[in-house]
Amino acid sequence: MSDCLFCKIANKEIPSEIVYEDNRVIAFKDIAPQAPVHIIVIPIEHFDCVLNVPAGNDIISHIHSVINRLAIKYDLAQKGFRIVNNCGDDGGQSVKHLHYHLIGGRAMGWPPG
Ligand code: AMP
Ligand code: ZN
Repeated sequence: MSDCLFCKIANKEIPSEIVYEDNRVIAFKDIAPQAPVHIIVIPIEHFDCVLNVPAGNDIISHIHSVINRLAIKYDLAQKGFRIVNNCGDDGGQSVKHLHYHLIGGRAMGWPPG
């Protein structure tokens, strides 16, 4: 998707602070962090949101395994953390490329606003 911000980050056309990458996934620091640790994890392949991932595609489980590794790397495992996937307008998704937020380093409230 030529006009997609996260495709441009995945293709290194736009710089980001990358903390993990492999041949399917890239993770980078959120430009407007909401907590001491705020990392965005995306598939390199473009999907508009989680609804567009075909049945049988294991990218979501791979993303979750990457999140687990990052949670341990950033010392979040003991106190806990939050994984957020915003989907669509009511979900608050501003970038229409599937992504997960890994947020931690402070206590968080519930329910979301
Ligand atoms: P969402 O609102 O769930 O679509 O999340 C999009 C996230 O992308 C927000 O938390 C933004 O702060 C973050 N973001 C937007 N542009 C950039 C960028 N160039 N580099 C890193 N994070 C970004
Ligand atoms: Zn994209």
